[in-house]
Amino acid sequence: EEEALRAFRDLRPRRADGTQIEVAANIGSIEEIDAAREAGAMGVGLFRTELLFMKHGGLPTEDMQYEVYAEAARAFAPDPVIIRTLDIGGDKPVAGVVFPQEANPFLGWRGVRMCLDRPDVFKPQLRALLRAATLGNVKVMLPMVSTLDEVTRSRALIDECKAELAAEGKAFADFALGVMIETPAAVFVARNLARQVDFFSIGTNDLTQYVMAADRLNPQIAALNDVANPAVLAAIEMTARAGTEAGIMVGMCGEAAARTDLVPKFLAMGLTELSMSPAAIPRAKKCIAAELGG
Ligand code: PEP
Ligand code: MG
Repeated sequence: EEEALRAFRDLRPRRADGTQIEVAANIGSIEEIDAAREAGAMGVGLFRTELLFMKHGGLPTEDMQYEVYAEAARAFAPDPVIIRTLDIGGDKPVAGVVFPQEANPFLGWRGVRMCLDRPDVFKPQLRALLRAATLGNVKVMLPMVSTLDEVTRSRALIDECKAELAAEGKAFADFALGVMIETPAAVFVARNLARQVDFFSIGTNDLTQYVMAADRLNPQIAALNDVANPAVLAAIEMTARAGTEAGIMVGMCGEAAARTDLVPKFLAMGLTELSMSPAAIPRAKKCIAAELGG
């Protein structure tokens, strides 16, 4: 079967209207680039940058981050590499950020919420991303967005970084800015968010836990934590409609993107990018090809 799946490795599936369906990889380090390319990834749909911060003794410097983002950008150019800004919280500590004790870390100070409060952490990452964007098709996405204001404030910080880099005479390029849709609040304001960003990426792992109010790490309620629950599918459909009506790309980077039983539904909803662990890519490509009739 491995052999049969290899036949799909270089496939770049297209819908009848010519739109390409991007089958991309979720990675957490540059060590995973080769496996992703080998599996046939058409880019990176989610580069989780947490590991870079967690494995390091302190906060990684702008230059250290730049090297990593630059390598990913170069490896996949001209295909897109979507790099997610730091998505940590009290459950995943990082040296250099003191997290408060929280009763509900999954509902707490995490992701873009923490980054906006800590420009000393956020800005070096944004500067590194702006610099790496000169080397390939870098896109940036914000995790745990729940308000429009978080996008506006992030954009203001990006503008500050651009002005600083320009003043310092450092090369940089603009990048497409997207948001992860992983909170119910983001789904409910998706039509407004879609006017402020370049793309959506649905994070079904968190979206499922927040829609169902079911902790994704608690095995006792695992049955509720199901992306195929009609409530979660409705949230995904609302997001897809809001994004496609606004003319922006809607993708998915949660585990559900590799659920071949659901992929036909996601394609029908208008998703044009599915990002998953590299190992899942060949099978997903085969499924998409079958669904699109070639
Ligand atoms: C998600 O929430 O679906 C997601 C892709 O992000 P993470 O699993 O890193 O929270
Ligand atoms: Mg998430």
